[in-house]
Amino acid sequence: MSEARTVALLMAAGRGVRSGGGVPKQFRTLGGRPMLAHAYRALRLHPAVAEVVVVAAADQHAAVADALGVEGVRLVAGGATRRESVRNGLEVLADNPPARVLIHDAARPFLPAEVIDRLLAALGTYAGAIPALPVADTLVRYDGVMSDTVDRTALYRVQTPQAFVYGAVLTAHRSWPADQDPTDDAQMVRDTGHEITLVQGDPMLEKITHPQDFAYAEARLAAASDVRVATGFDVHRLEAGERLWLGGVLIPHDKGLSGHSDADVALHAITDALLGTIVDGDIGSHFPPSDPRWRGADSAHFLQHAADLIATGGGTISFVDLTIICEAPKIGPHRDAIRARIADLLRLPLRQVSVKATTTERLGFTGRGEGIAAQAVATVRLPRD
Ligand code: MG
Repeated sequence: MSEARTVALLMAAGRGVRSGGGVPKQFRTLGGRPMLAHAYRALRLHPAVAEVVVVAAADQHAAVADALGVEGVRLVAGGATRRESVRNGLEVLADNPPARVLIHDAARPFLPAEVIDRLLAALGTYAGAIPALPVADTLVRYDGVMSDTVDRTALYRVQTPQAFVYGAVLTAHRSWPADQDPTDDAQMVRDTGHEITLVQGDPMLEKITHPQDFAYAEARLAAASDVRVATGFDVHRLEAGERLWLGGVLIPHDKGLSGHSDADVALHAITDALLGTIVDGDIGSHFPPSDPRWRGADSAHFLQHAADLIATGGGTISFVDLTIICEAPKIGPHRDAIRARIADLLRLPLRQVSVKATTTERLGFTGRGEGIAAQAVATVRLPRD
């Protein structure tokens, strides 16, 4: 264990549905993925953060795992209040205590790495550090009519993540009187006699609370993104004695597609379209036919590899459109199963996957039933450099 091991607690225990959409806001979609996935990713990708532990209501753990789309995330049950939820998270870490802990709210999805850098640097000197921004607006007292103006020069707006020396925040939580409600973790640590410092926050870190906040956040995300569209195309030969995999679904037919892998022409076309959006070669350069590892391989693996590369680069798949070109079998009866399988593999909502089919009027190799062709278009949103 390195001396400065840092663990992040991502607080996603809220049940508030006032942001609209009928689900707790951390699960509402923002930029094509659930809101909590944004903050999770920002924390997970920071080189100083060893682990991200998510605190969420026990009955929402399955939803959290699904929203994050990654295996093996440590989930902790939240409590009745935010304080209890944080305490539960801190206690879980006590078995293998980190040196430092970041406590962040899932409702602040856009977390710049520079803020984490500043917080952790400040922990070299202080037991706690919090990001804050000066108050820009004029502040006044109000008692039915406008009263005095409040001097704002010493006032700051506090954001998260808040960073602490682990032992200090754990002690503060363990010793806090059960009947007192603190405003936040920093206040609790301060009350145990530690100095907390302020580091520069970021306007991107604004908390998302109301329905209109989602609209602003979407606009901000769009302004910071590039939309890429790329195509993929593939052909495989139909042969007797082969199984027919199309779009990740095994389809009963008197012939199947032949190739080095399972020859799923549809998944290959989509894989190439996805790789095209990130200018990362093609399926052959990632999975060379000369490599015996890919003999008979499940093409779902190729597709998910391309999707992982996009996610690793901070991208989000917005849409996939597939066209299967063949005379037989008829695709219509299998269309829903293929759509569902592709959506599942890419962890996309069904409405973001389109599957179409056409014949070539008995013309050409597809028309003669010698092979099946597939073409795909993928739309991906990538963070602007
Ligand atoms: Mg192929």
